[in-house]
Amino acid sequence: MKLENKVCIVTGAASGIGKAIAALYAAEGAKVVIADLNKHAAQAAADEIAATHPGNAMAVAMDVTSEEQVNAGVAEVIAAWGTVDVLVSNAGIQIVHPLEDYPFAEWKKMLAIHLDGAFLTSKAVLPHMYAQGSGSIILMGSVHSKEASPLKSAYVTAKHGLIGLAKVIAKEGGKKGVRANVICPGFVRTPLVDKQIPEQAAQLGISEDEVIRKVMLGGTVDGEFTTAEDIAEVALFFAAFGSNALTGQSLLASHGWFME
Ligand code: NAD
Repeated sequence: MKLENKVCIVTGAASGIGKAIAALYAAEGAKVVIADLNKHAAQAAADEIAATHPGNAMAVAMDVTSEEQVNAGVAEVIAAWGTVDVLVSNAGIQIVHPLEDYPFAEWKKMLAIHLDGAFLTSKAVLPHMYAQGSGSIILMGSVHSKEASPLKSAYVTAKHGLIGLAKVIAKEGGKKGVRANVICPGFVRTPLVDKQIPEQAAQLGISEDEVIRKVMLGGTVDGEFTTAEDIAEVALFFAAFGSNALTGQSLLASHGWFME
């Protein structure tokens, strides 16, 4: 068990990658907090985990763009379990438009969820991690933290920004035992990606099959999607790593779509 009794908050964990991370963390002995927009969906995901790990999953309703809701959610976790050992800031959405048509309100919404969300959740957990002298913060980046694609100006901007934030947390937290790292997944078949397939087909004037084969997987070494379980393994590696040797880093898991 690599995370025995560790309290781990995973945002956006009612679906997709976050859900897979919470499930793997629980299987490794963690007490997991499913933090998501919708209390009902978060509770359903927590109940699924609690069925095999009784007492080790709780749901928290949290819009990560709201300072009030983030602070209230973290306070709920502290009241229930006393501390926070791991934060996975994972909640995210995608909105695609060419830049000249990108509605300003949607740009601001994207930056709020990805960047304000990472800032607010990190800010809320850090005092607890500093008080106990240990903690691991994992920000969910993307290949788009290091590479660009057309139509994704807000996403690419926000995901690049997360690397800067993680490096600052790593520098500020180092002497207090807190590490911060970024995971950079390639395309994973989740609701976030399924929604983009018809949207990109329409905007690029190609078929949905071509979006998958050429746009999404064309650059990979084997034409395969990364899976949520692959990303959960990386999230476990970062969460359970035992020292500051691994901090301020970002790791690509994308079937070789992007190499550095
Ligand atoms: P998903 O749509 O399956 O899950 C996202 C979850 O985030 C949902 O449960 C949703 O309710 C929640 N969420 C959205 N806005 C929120 C908010 N304001 N507050 C709290 N929760 C909110 O998506 P996913 O594919 O699992 O994406 C998870 C993360 O992984 C995102 O940050 C995404 O950018 C990143 N990512 C995904 C892929 C991919 O190909 N799927 C690739 C690289 C990075």
